[in-house]
Amino acid sequence: MELSWPIKLDHPVYVREGGRLEKLRYLQRSHLGYTFTLLDAQGQPTLAEGRDSSPANGGKGVRLTRLVGVQPGFLLKSCPRCETVKPHQAFGLRVAGGVVRDQSYCQDCR
Ligand SMILES: [Zn+2]
Repeated sequence: MELSWPIKLDHPVYVREGGRLEKLRYLQRSHLGYTFTLLDAQGQPTLAEGRDSSPANGGKGVRLTRLVGVQPGFLLKSCPRCETVKPHQAFGLRVAGGVVRDQSYCQDCR
């Protein structure tokens, strides 16, 4: 799955920056140089959803779900079947209800 940047998140997430939490509304390509976990306002790991900046879905972008963090070079997604966190490239795309979105299950689980 190739992504168009930035990724606009449905709801802001937080990342730990030094001792404090920094709010993010977008995931930028420049974030791929870092390692961080997406957190909720209480600082607990969370699952984030959003859309990329591609023209898919009438300009709204590809729907992305179950994002959990970033490592250098890729986003991390959690597969609900094997409960493993994997790079977003390990998930395909599908069309469901006319909406282009990422696969929930990783390619190993499909
Ligand atoms: Zn899986």
